[in-house]
Amino acid sequence: MEAVTFAGVLGAIVGSFLNVVTYRLPRHESLITPASHCPGCGVPVKPYDNIPILSWLLLRGHCRSCSQPISPRYPLVEALTAALCVGAVLVHDTAAGIALSIALILIVVPSALIDLEHRIIPNRITLLGAAAALALGLALDPAGEPERLIAGAAAGGFLLLAALAYPGGMGMGDVKLAGVMGLFLGASVAPALLIALVTGVLLGALVIARKGAQAGRKTAVPFGPFLALGALVAVFVGHPLVDVYVNHFLH
Ligand SMILES: [Zn+2]
Repeated sequence: MEAVTFAGVLGAIVGSFLNVVTYRLPRHESLITPASHCPGCGVPVKPYDNIPILSWLLLRGHCRSCSQPISPRYPLVEALTAALCVGAVLVHDTAAGIALSIALILIVVPSALIDLEHRIIPNRITLLGAAAALALGLALDPAGEPERLIAGAAAGGFLLLAALAYPGGMGMGDVKLAGVMGLFLGASVAPALLIALVTGVLLGALVIARKGAQAGRKTAVPFGPFLALGALVAVFVGHPLVDVYVNHFLH
């Protein structure tokens, strides 16, 4: 129970930092200074107004000094990160499983948000993800490292082929993120990529159906959020999905 509470509180605090990362990293601003300030009036946010989720609720989504609305996106990202971290602690029972899952969550959430807004997945996020996956994997589950290395190479290679085949659809950021997902997920990266491709293609088809082929193709849909969705599903049910596949199709 303590672990769940800890994961929830820490998840909300880290989610608050992910909001900073999501806003500042693509704008090449420092992640540390200046301290958070209201984008409307520029007044620094007081520490007691900077409590994840709670402050937004207490201030009813408005800046204390200028009363300008503060986007509900901030508390939503904090709540989502907290919920995902709690889920990872509940679902996994090894230190390696919990640590790799939480680190992957903290990589894919800002990747998806930045890709949605800016159509890029920053190298600094994928590089940090690869380093974290290798360090945590080698420290907590060295026996599983070969599987994760193979999964990373296979997932990155698969998306590289897809990016070369459909140049407008995917970018190198997606290729790198898929490779990083493999380094975290091992064999579970297979259902993750399948979910990403199926949901991505379905949404693409939906856009084309609504807007017509020509306008639809111009509405480039970033693929990072679909990769993130696949990664999150794999974090929670990746092992059962791989087991179903191995038991039903390989026997
Ligand atoms: Zn303000």
